[in-house]
Amino acid sequence: MDIFLTNTRTRAKELFSPIDPMNVRIYVCGPTVYDRAHMGNARAAIVFDMLVRLMRHVYGADHVTYVRNFTDVDDKINARAAQTGEPISAITARTTQWYLDDMAALGVLEPDHMPRATQYIPQMIAMIEGLIDSGHAYAADGHVLFSVSSYEKYGALSGRSVDDMIAGARVEVAPYKRDPMDFVLWKPSSEDLPGWDSPWGRGRPGWHIECSAMADDLLWRRPLEQDRLSEEAKLRPHVFDIHGGGNDLAFPHHENEIAQSCCANHTQVMANVWLHNEMLQVEGKKMSKSLGNFFTVRDLLDQGIPGEVIRFAFLSTHYRKPMDWTAERAAQAQKTLHRWRGLFKGIAPSEPYEEVLKLLADDLNTAGALNHLSHLGQALYTMAHGRASAPFETPAVEDVGAEWFENASKFVASAQLLGLLEPALGNWAELSVDLSAHADRLSSVRADAMQSKDFSEVDRLKQVLIAAGVEVRMSKAGVELVPGSGFDPAKLEGL
Ligand SMILES: [Zn+2]
Repeated sequence: MDIFLTNTRTRAKELFSPIDPMNVRIYVCGPTVYDRAHMGNARAAIVFDMLVRLMRHVYGADHVTYVRNFTDVDDKINARAAQTGEPISAITARTTQWYLDDMAALGVLEPDHMPRATQYIPQMIAMIEGLIDSGHAYAADGHVLFSVSSYEKYGALSGRSVDDMIAGARVEVAPYKRDPMDFVLWKPSSEDLPGWDSPWGRGRPGWHIECSAMADDLLWRRPLEQDRLSEEAKLRPHVFDIHGGGNDLAFPHHENEIAQSCCANHTQVMANVWLHNEMLQVEGKKMSKSLGNFFTVRDLLDQGIPGEVIRFAFLSTHYRKPMDWTAERAAQAQKTLHRWRGLFKGIAPSEPYEEVLKLLADDLNTAGALNHLSHLGQALYTMAHGRASAPFETPAVEDVGAEWFENASKFVASAQLLGLLEPALGNWAELSVDLSAHADRLSSVRADAMQSKDFSEVDRLKQVLIAAGVEVRMSKAGVELVPGSGFDPAKLEGL
């Protein structure tokens, strides 16, 4: 299967050709851990999860190495600790786990390596020393700065000239900088801030150097030591296949990573392919705290929107287009998934449809793949039930024949390649089905009680539901049951 990806570095959609097909190596910039992941963080996590799922499918699960870091030393974390009085280590430990839990709820698989910046201080110091020795960096006033003018290809990734970058970016002018464009590799820490001993005094790394150090360690040095690189890969030292992140990271973060890595490792490129996902909007507007439309993944999960629904909605827009999160889109995604879960309940996956694979291999066209599956799902539903008002249930084999089931197995395999219809994510669909049956029963018992004036059975049902954590809303219009956060379906068994 040929995979095509749009490479930011060359500005072209290219045939992906791994340096070593036995070990495809991918690095993605992960979150800074001081708070809940917001929806923009989730988009990047899902986009690169999709990339890795495709790579594992095509090259084999054991032939891909995926690294995504945690930035656990950063001035935003220090500011949060100063503000709340909570120790930094407690903040980063808790928010790291939050991130993992929230991404798991979205069906994002854990990478092979999740290095934390604080585990890589010696490697960063070594890299900075090498940059000073080769004249690409200088120490001044407890700081070490990368000399941007020492690297003539600076700005090539984002296609900007240094003059444009100075004009457009909020470049910090400081007395210890030779040039305002120079960026920090190391900075001094006062006693109340996290710090490590270094040749330049007690201090801490700048943000960009961690990715250069971790990518090189986990995607070059370790695979080399473990003899996991082909002879061809050894001829391209330090270079790996794909580097990803949100397009807000292309400048300055990725430009700086490239400058550091290429100068420290004496290479022409850091990664062959650079992939950037577009940003997220909410109801057509940029998500921002000042507009009041800023929310976290956990906010949505707590509102009862299933993680699988969020994932579906995200995948229905191509990663290189702005994704517009709308309530309508979420509702539509939920409806579609609910139907699929009913129709394909209990169907085991076989192999994905060739057409779905082809769409995904064409620059991760997840929107096209979902669209294709929607049409197939509709066709399988019509074959199964023949009429639009039938329930979405798995048909009997004597009614539809073995071929329907072969297609259903391919359908489930295709959806699972997209991280959908996974058993672990599907609890929400079963819960809502169960509750609708309970709601129907309660409303018919209530109708009887209206006649007999004996409400004891209504009260009994209500009490069991409430004890199971269900909110019971009864009105003239009918009965509505809403599972609360403490909902325990086991307590409804035998009702
Ligand atoms: Zn990075």
